[in-house]
Amino acid sequence: MPAPATSLPQEILERTVGVLVDLCGISSASGDLEGLDRIAQRLSREFEARGLAAEVAREADAAGVVQPVLTARGPRADGRYLLLVGHMDTVLDAATPRVEGDRLHATGALDMKGGLAMFLGALDLLKQRGQKAPDDTLLVVVPDEEASGSISERAVRRWGDHARTLLVIEPGEPRGEGETLVAGRRGAAEWRLEASGKAAHSGLAYWQGRSALAAAADWAARAQGLSERGSGPTVNVARLVGGDADFVTDLAHHHDLLGSQRRRNVISDRAVAEGEARFLSPADGERILAALADLAARVAAEHGVSMAFQPRHTAPPVDPNGPGRPLAQRVVELAAARGWPLVMDDDRGGISFPNFITDPARVPVIDGLGPVGDGMHTREEFLDLRSLERRIVLLADLLATL
Ligand SMILES: [Zn+2]
Repeated sequence: MPAPATSLPQEILERTVGVLVDLCGISSASGDLEGLDRIAQRLSREFEARGLAAEVAREADAAGVVQPVLTARGPRADGRYLLLVGHMDTVLDAATPRVEGDRLHATGALDMKGGLAMFLGALDLLKQRGQKAPDDTLLVVVPDEEASGSISERAVRRWGDHARTLLVIEPGEPRGEGETLVAGRRGAAEWRLEASGKAAHSGLAYWQGRSALAAAADWAARAQGLSERGSGPTVNVARLVGGDADFVTDLAHHHDLLGSQRRRNVISDRAVAEGEARFLSPADGERILAALADLAARVAAEHGVSMAFQPRHTAPPVDPNGPGRPLAQRVVELAAARGWPLVMDDDRGGISFPNFITDPARVPVIDGLGPVGDGMHTREEFLDLRSLERRIVLLADLLATL
């Protein structure tokens, strides 16, 4: 007989929901420094009360604006540690929270003050059971995740590179009868293609020209065609600009050529394409970038133009078959032992916390540990309180094994 799913004492649930309602009542949209500070201070007190050493540090973002970063650590969270990561900012300003049945309707209830409250609830539950979180537990809560901020990226890299395990307490998703846990997340590589051809009068010397635009367009169509359905890599050509060299290299000054009759009789000698590729394993990333470079060499030869393919910034993927796999499996089993179905999402898109680690292939990562709901980033946002209950128990069970 599995233990009942509702093995969370009522007083712990009520206390957790009470704190969560308070947190959601504090407006903390990205950039709202006063609100973010109030959240950081409030969380700091809650973690101190549960035996973690909390600190609110001040860090400057890319624009030089100083924002709060909360850390809460166990007595031995140095060297290597068990890292939990979350964020305190929301997309929208707070509206008045309200509980209706099993739902908490509030800004940030789902994304992701619910995940922060879940951790508080799990600490309470462990204490009540006479257990505790590992001594090397370290929680980092950043202020600018929803704004794709530099503090988030830097903090996760700084702390994540030395973590023995990374638990991301962002929300999972409802799926069928159950809920998801994120075991795999795509990485992305940005790239740029530059093509140079030979300008010529399209009426007088058509066959002496070499169109950079036609070559780049051919490359772009074939590049997207390298995308694979299912778990394979995908390629997106986000921009393609072609024309005469003046137009392409100084678009700001020559944009008014568009729609005019000027220079339509010039064979294009310049084109630039920019985009990205997304992939689920480092090997897929290397493979797709090599294929794009190889395609550039072939298309350039076919069209008699020159092409330079340049991969740029790369965010590494979390491979669902990487070092986090056994841990994800364990979490699924812990949920099953409590009588509820948790399924692994092996292929989540979007760049998020785990992509900021220098090498996610070296750190076991579990994402989407937080409770589910719906309406993220909208006025319809709500948190499923039954999910909060289940996930508090799940996190406590997990922390007891780590
Ligand atoms: Zn979030």
